[in-house]
Amino acid sequence: MSRLPRETYVSPQRNGYPNHPTAVMRRRRMVAIVIATFVAAAIAAGVTLSLMAGASKIPGVAGIAGVPGASAAHDDGETGAIDMNDPISPFDTEHPAVSRLDPAVREAIQAAATDAEADGIEILLTSGWRSADYQAGLLQDAIADYGSESAAREFVSTPEGSKHVTGEAVDIARVDPALWLEQYGASYGLCRAFVNESWHFELLTEPGGECPVMLADASEAA
Ligand SMILES: [Zn+2]
Repeated sequence: MSRLPRETYVSPQRNGYPNHPTAVMRRRRMVAIVIATFVAAAIAAGVTLSLMAGASKIPGVAGIAGVPGASAAHDDGETGAIDMNDPISPFDTEHPAVSRLDPAVREAIQAAATDAEADGIEILLTSGWRSADYQAGLLQDAIADYGSESAAREFVSTPEGSKHVTGEAVDIARVDPALWLEQYGASYGLCRAFVNESWHFELLTEPGGECPVMLADASEAA
């Protein structure tokens, strides 16, 4: 194979005319392009930052809707509390107890409520999503009522352990709807979780699957 001796090879760059007016113009144009690119990037970054700043002021954009746990950490004063004597529909998405449910849980309980209605059963909620602060308050109240933390924990979980705080549990108002859900809930993936709470349901199986054996009480879950 033929190959030029090293010393006879002249690279195109070295063969050019670095100080020829065309070459100088080319360099200036390159500098201008680099500066323009830098300015464009800076403007884009600025616009992005100002958009982000603006977005945080738009209700619903700043809150991380539908992300379990995320809303609990974002304390905007909402508790998710529902008046026990005035339970709410699982379709009441204006209420944080419903709007902050895990979307899969919300869809499951809504589907169950629709089918229960056809059976003449009205599914209403006494609890859904709860804030961590509200859960902590419920536990403190229960400790006062039951006399000890261990007794209270049989009915009320810690903020860290509660599936209500993560939006993964619903409590059903009244006996008949709870019994209906215990019988048919697995069709929607919803299962009664605890022996001592006939009202508390979680998404514990695939729709049409089999519910796991119930735990004795909430203290076994944590
Ligand atoms: Zn519950």
